[in-house]
Amino acid sequence: MEKRRIYIDFDGVITNYENGWQGHHVCNDTRNDEIHRWFWSISTDFEFVVLSGRALTWRGRRCIRWWLKDNGYPPLRVTCKKAGDYIFYIDDRGWSYRKGHSVLPSRKEVNRFQPWCKEEQMNGST
Ligand SMILES: [Mg+2]
Repeated sequence: MEKRRIYIDFDGVITNYENGWQGHHVCNDTRNDEIHRWFWSISTDFEFVVLSGRALTWRGRRCIRWWLKDNGYPPLRVTCKKAGDYIFYIDDRGWSYRKGHSVLPSRKEVNRFQPWCKEEQMNGST
């Protein structure tokens, strides 16, 4: 039976994204251990696909594959586009939406939104 798919963002989810953007093919951030533990706790049941803008270039895809290998992940498909059916997508800049049940961000909240790694940098905890 085919495994159900989960897309997972690279920068800021699989990695801690503490060094900021340095180009598609520069992957030098540390591993996010929380995600790594979670991945291994359920990885046999689902197909994980890495979704990243880095995957727009072959060097970016190669950089992610090497980084995954060096940081305790198995070979995973790497892409820049979601396609077909999937369960959900994990992203550090996402806003979960359910019609009729979601609290959508105000203009102020939109303007103030920061991914978790930028909040930590501003709070001096990294
Ligand atoms: Mg991200």
